Amino acid sequence: MKALVKTKRGVGNVEIRDVEVPKAGRDQVIIEVKSAGLCGTDYHIYHDEYKSNPPVTLGHEVAGVIAETGPGVNGLKSGDRVTTETYFATCGSCPMCRGGKPNLCPDRISIGSMTNGGMTKYLLVPAGNVHLLPGNVDFKAGSLTEPLACVIHSLLDMSNIRPADMVVVSGPGPIGLLACQVVKQCGAYTIVIGTGNDRERLELSRELGADRIIVADEEDPWKIIAELTDGHGADVVCECAGAEGSVRTCLQLVRRAGQYVQIGLAGQPVKFDIDQVIFKEIPIRGGFASIPSSWTRALKMMELGFVKTAPLVSHAMPITEWEKAFETFKEKSGLKIVLTPVE
Ligand SMILES: [Zn+2]
Ligand SMILES: [Zn+2]
Repeated sequence: MKALVKTKRGVGNVEIRDVEVPKAGRDQVIIEVKSAGLCGTDYHIYHDEYKSNPPVTLGHEVAGVIAETGPGVNGLKSGDRVTTETYFATCGSCPMCRGGKPNLCPDRISIGSMTNGGMTKYLLVPAGNVHLLPGNVDFKAGSLTEPLACVIHSLLDMSNIRPADMVVVSGPGPIGLLACQVVKQCGAYTIVIGTGNDRERLELSRELGADRIIVADEEDPWKIIAELTDGHGADVVCECAGAEGSVRTCLQLVRRAGQYVQIGLAGQPVKFDIDQVIFKEIPIRGGFASIPSSWTRALKMMELGFVKTAPLVSHAMPITEWEKAFETFKEKSGLKIVLTPVE
């Protein structure tokens, strides 16, 4: 079968290769992939800014159907519409695993970076990682369960957003637009900040529930936030762009004793005024990937229509057009790009 493979470490070294079809062992299943989201992590792996174990098939945002179940698998059968968590294996015995934080296990092996992922036709995963997709969520929308689970982990487990909080979401990419919807569901007044290039994305954020949008290169974000908060600043800022300018803006906009949540990955060190953390007494929180409970909540929010992922899918391309997909990702000319397998 054809797969999009990182062939060795270093910048680039990504190509379509013929790889072996996997076989389900004990407590494992094979998913026939229908949609695999392209994510910042794949882009960082391409640029060797994120750890990988080549040769390895990329792709960790997956939806598809069960094609095969190995011995010992209960509750799943061929044809079930599913998505999967991304940890192929964790040690199970370190303090993080035992403390309910398998996402932080130092021996964690994730699909799409440390072991084969879903940018191919058949994907091998542990049965315990698999979740059924709600009937109202199609495969493309379902492949966004993973980024939604990550956003839910950062916003609901690692920070505390309450009704009527003034919350800034900076960066209206796919992650920001998911964050915007989750923040809105917490009952917060939701402000989304982008640049002039993000105009369409900002409009979409309004359709998805944002109360106020700010075009940072045309309006002064601080002036608007100050007006909305009697000069105090936002209760919570969620940085979703992974960009230095956005990090600085967020630190400026957060109020004293507010909360700063980092969701965007920058892929490189970022310069910011750390003294603000002291002057304002702000905790800086980040959530790495997700934990199992993030997935059940993500799927429930999608089933109930509280979060819509379908409007975020702008492109679907076969994996053989991966170069065009990466280019489109880099140019930000779309939103979420999903890749589909080829025969
Ligand atoms: Zn991702
Ligand atoms: Zn562990």
